[in-house]
Amino acid sequence: MPLPPAVDLYSDTQTKPTAAMRRAMADAEVGDEQQGTDPTVNRLCARVAEMLGHEAGLFLPTGTMCNLVAVATHTSPGDAIVTSLDSHIVRSETGGAAAYSGVITDLLAGDRGRFSPEATAEALAPGHVYRPWPRLVCLEQTHNFGGGTVWPLEQYRAVAEVARTAGVAVHTDGARLFNATVASRTEPRVWGEPVESIWIDFTKGLGAPLGAVLVGGRDFIEAARVHKHRCGGAMRQAGIAAAGCLHALDHHIDRLAADHANAARLAEGLSALGVGTEPVETNMVWIDIAPTGLRAAEFLERLAARHVRMSRVEERVRAVTHLDVSADDIETAVAAVAETLEALP
Ligand SMILES: *Cc1c(COP(=O)(O)O)cnc(C)c1O
Repeated sequence: MPLPPAVDLYSDTQTKPTAAMRRAMADAEVGDEQQGTDPTVNRLCARVAEMLGHEAGLFLPTGTMCNLVAVATHTSPGDAIVTSLDSHIVRSETGGAAAYSGVITDLLAGDRGRFSPEATAEALAPGHVYRPWPRLVCLEQTHNFGGGTVWPLEQYRAVAEVARTAGVAVHTDGARLFNATVASRTEPRVWGEPVESIWIDFTKGLGAPLGAVLVGGRDFIEAARVHKHRCGGAMRQAGIAAAGCLHALDHHIDRLAADHANAARLAEGLSALGVGTEPVETNMVWIDIAPTGLRAAEFLERLAARHVRMSRVEERVRAVTHLDVSADDIETAVAAVAETLEALP
């Protein structure tokens, strides 16, 4: 087995549960989640719903299932969902929305994942009778392939308002919502209130081993519960997992600011080496390796030989900071890139 990387910037999914989180999980009071009697799951769902300004919440094993269930609940086969052209739903969920819900996508360009109210209005404008019916707008906060970008609140509200006027629901993929709230110094509920459904992931920056909570109105959540069960997401003593999520809400939100500072420092260190990055808004650094003359895969291999791990999407290289990456680790990563550059022919 190769040694694990000394610095793992592959993704914020690479965090390991802390000792304190494991203790909270071990001590969790549990029941039968599927029957609605797991007290820890119920506490988590009520808390997330309250935080995001919605009536009810649903505990699901993954964020992918939140999107799958939400799209199914909001749409009928043949409907269109309107979303950014590089949204996670479109790019990274193995076509789940199409396979499970039978929807077609209407993809909007924008500024690093953030599209305008005008583009939304155009997509939702009444058209001829033959076209797929736009039934749902899907937003992503922060936007992953956009570069960990944060929707400005005014733009987010304006897009939601356009949808409301058109009678179309809005769903927000908030896998990294707390990176956005910390970066923009906003309350979570301001992102929940303008939309019909929104979810948060506990396995990204929050550092839990599994779990996500989807929230919305009481009727929406009751309908979503059917899809949760249908796609195999109804669980049993899930309070073990929910306790890790509650622990993360108590201890791992404010510290995201440290991840953002580390990402900014990484970008600064790389640019001093002549390696540019896209503007850093949260915990992601998308690196332009063109100046190295290497293919992304080669660049990653050379870094890995120096015990630093990053990832790539095609030729874009991505480094993500998280709770298992320290400020010293960032200096190690910058040094590894410097050595890689020095070793170039
Ligand atoms: C990770 C991610 C998901 C999927 O979440 P999982 O918990 O890994 O299934 C969905 N959307 C975005 C933007 C993500 O980054």
